[in-house]
Amino acid sequence: MSKGITSKNDDYSAWYNELVTKADLAEHSAVKGCMVIKPYGYSIWEKMQAALDKMFKDTGHSNAYFPLFIPKSFFSKEAAHVEGFATECAVVTHYRLKNDGNGNIIVDEDAKLEEELIVRPTSETIIWNTYRGWIQSYRDLPILVNQWANVVRWEMRTRLFLRTTEFLWQEGHTAHSTAAEAIEETERMLNVYADFAENWMAMPVVKGIKTANERFAGAVETYCIEALMQDGKALQAGTSHFLGQNFAKAFDVKFTSKEGKLDHVWATSWGVSTRLMGALIMAHSDDSGLVLPPKLAPIQVVIVPIYKSDEDLAKITEFADNLHAELKAKGISVKYDDRDTQRPGFKFAEYELKGVPVRIAIGGRDMENGTVEIARRDTKEKQTIAQDGLANRIEALLEDIQTNIYQKALKFRSENITEVNSYEEFKQVLDGKAGFVSAHWDGTPETEKKIKEETKATIRCIPLDNKQEEGVCIYSGQASTQRVLFARAY
Ligand code: AMP
Repeated sequence: MSKGITSKNDDYSAWYNELVTKADLAEHSAVKGCMVIKPYGYSIWEKMQAALDKMFKDTGHSNAYFPLFIPKSFFSKEAAHVEGFATECAVVTHYRLKNDGNGNIIVDEDAKLEEELIVRPTSETIIWNTYRGWIQSYRDLPILVNQWANVVRWEMRTRLFLRTTEFLWQEGHTAHSTAAEAIEETERMLNVYADFAENWMAMPVVKGIKTANERFAGAVETYCIEALMQDGKALQAGTSHFLGQNFAKAFDVKFTSKEGKLDHVWATSWGVSTRLMGALIMAHSDDSGLVLPPKLAPIQVVIVPIYKSDEDLAKITEFADNLHAELKAKGISVKYDDRDTQRPGFKFAEYELKGVPVRIAIGGRDMENGTVEIARRDTKEKQTIAQDGLANRIEALLEDIQTNIYQKALKFRSENITEVNSYEEFKQVLDGKAGFVSAHWDGTPETEKKIKEETKATIRCIPLDNKQEEGVCIYSGQASTQRVLFARAY
């Protein structure tokens, strides 16, 4: 293959980096920690956005837009929030440059901002400051708003898509008149994320609650979806926070209830980011390149003509045009690659690298026999099939691929959740196949921190569907009533 990549079993991290760049998804930029998302990568992100956006609207939300800059004083209003984000904020201090007279462009010290501005790492503060003006009575509630935006978190260790300094995301910010309604919303959006991960990304996730250590700064409760990557590391794929009345109190947002009582408003926030791109790549791809679930593939079917003469090509093209139209009518995206600058073998490798789910090759003999060769990207199986009824076959095949990719990932995850009952076993599993390790924990942040220091494993979540079970903490030997999921994570 012309664009060979490192095998994922040899060096998973190199495999991932090479795959992202060689499949033309993204590249490192001139700015440390920030990436350029290339057109092919961006078109996958757009498909994710479109699906999520529809799901948000179907659950009653509308989009809005708030400023990129947040006055520093806003940040300081919610104590836990500012403490959590303080170490990773980009701060704007000046608004002008000048020439120093020697041809150097320097910051103009006369143009210092009276109040410094924070480039948003998340928008709770500016949004709740705005909501104060929107909410007076229970009739103004709920507010169900989402924003698609970029945010900046000054991350020290970055990795394309998974953790970047600037990233794209959506952030939902809702306001409610009761705690129960806000919690219901928090859970609803967690379910939307899980639904998207499983049905669009073909990626099984565990729904759970974060421990206090891992909770969003300023939240009362953080819910999350956790996915398992093929190297046995976990990835937090989305979060949904119940914020209680913390931000309403910090920004003095009150409403008059039906009964005429004045109370602080209840809040949620929830977000997924371009990290989902990293998750998608890491969850399914192989040594030949990307494996994309059909529902998120920008090109679902590629048709490659194999011909010796112009006459052959003309016949194949006529057939391909018809097939293209039939597939398009079914909402399937198709590319006919009749470039004469590349050989078929080169094209095959390129579409494998880019994860196109179905490839159809048609040669002169196929035209005589009324057949085509059809290859599926997920299993790499090839088959010669009849041209009759081809569009229906392809439609069914795409559905089959979507299901198969999910089932494969689900099987992998099931095989990589290990229950352990001692710290020795725990460490053995982590250093062996890794994955999720299900173990009893005494519920204290101290134990959680010690385990993290000693093994680099964190509690990914307390699964929502947990069974209550008597046991003892693998670290402290204290009594415990349930298992939690540990893993080393991205
Ligand atoms: P949070 O606001 O911290 O709950 O994060 C919201 C979402 O953004 C989560 O799904 C995170 O996984 C994701 N996220 C957090 N930090 C980064 C980052 N540096 N790069 C990409 N995604 C991130």
